[in-house]
Amino acid sequence: MSMYKGLVLRSTGSWYDVKMDDGRVLKCRLRGKFKIKGLKVTNPLAVGDFVKFEIEEKNDQESGVIKEILPRENYLIRQSTRKAHHVHIIAANLDQAVLVATLVMPRTSFGFIDRFLVSAEAYHISTVIAFNKTDLLEEEDLEYQRDVMKMYEGIGYECIEISAETGYNIDAFEALLKGKKTLLSGHSGVGKSTLINRIAPEIEQRTNEISAFANKGMHTTTFAEMFEIEDDTYIIDTPGIKELGLVHIEPEELAGLFPEMRDMTGECRFYNCKHDKEPGCVVKQAVKEGRIAIPRYESYLSMLNGEDNRK
Ligand code: GDP
Ligand code: ZN
Repeated sequence: MSMYKGLVLRSTGSWYDVKMDDGRVLKCRLRGKFKIKGLKVTNPLAVGDFVKFEIEEKNDQESGVIKEILPRENYLIRQSTRKAHHVHIIAANLDQAVLVATLVMPRTSFGFIDRFLVSAEAYHISTVIAFNKTDLLEEEDLEYQRDVMKMYEGIGYECIEISAETGYNIDAFEALLKGKKTLLSGHSGVGKSTLINRIAPEIEQRTNEISAFANKGMHTTTFAEMFEIEDDTYIIDTPGIKELGLVHIEPEELAGLFPEMRDMTGECRFYNCKHDKEPGCVVKQAVKEGRIAIPRYESYLSMLNGEDNRK
């Protein structure tokens, strides 16, 4: 039997929509056992996975049988809400995440942004921060937003200010997505649906259908979907995914996930410095001298202390 290669666009738990090289989308099932080393997962296959499959024909109906999952470049997971100690794979092979944030209505906290960035660093996924609802900002807020953007850009995170409502900077936003697989995240209310509606109205329809499932109490985690908004340009916007699940980060790994601290951490007086209360800490010195932004250091400390600053 011939083997075909495809990309998983949609998962409903037992059936997967797989896009073939010729553009056709075929319903596929998974047969056999698939394991990821060292992880207990609730779903062996996720959107973004590349698979190899065979085609079966029954009653004039073609469907695929997935035989192999190709190695993943990266994958996002979160703790399963249904099974203790299991993780759920949200998506695989992502090129980037876009975190939609807002200064007003609602205000996205630094804590939330930084937690997201740390998770993305842990997954080796680059993040763009899109500040939406720019049209609502007074001159003063706008200046503040530019300062915030400067802070994040200074660390290496690309930022863009947009308005999904007025269309401000949306062309530039679309250019960021081109040819990539992007996870769209952000608190509810920041304008993700409005944004998607603006760049790909046909997708909004599907998202609403999926949300309707969610409202009926069905497990939306199994309804992950990746939308093709253009050739080779995909967006993943699964209801309920506003943050990246972090399995576990050891305290001594944390500073390494803050790019601005990463290179200096070996220089502290104590090799196991947590950059908290220890004397001779180069990180604290950098905070004092303004080379590390205070909000970032505060986020670091609250994550170090295991505080929940997701809100
Ligand atoms: P989601 O929960 O992230 O999908 O957010 P929605 O797209 O549902 O947006 C929440 C609310 O914010 C809606 O009332 C939108 O009309 C509004 N909204 C979204 N984007 C903008 C924007 O750029 N400017 C303004 N003024 N309102 C926006
Ligand atoms: Zn230190």
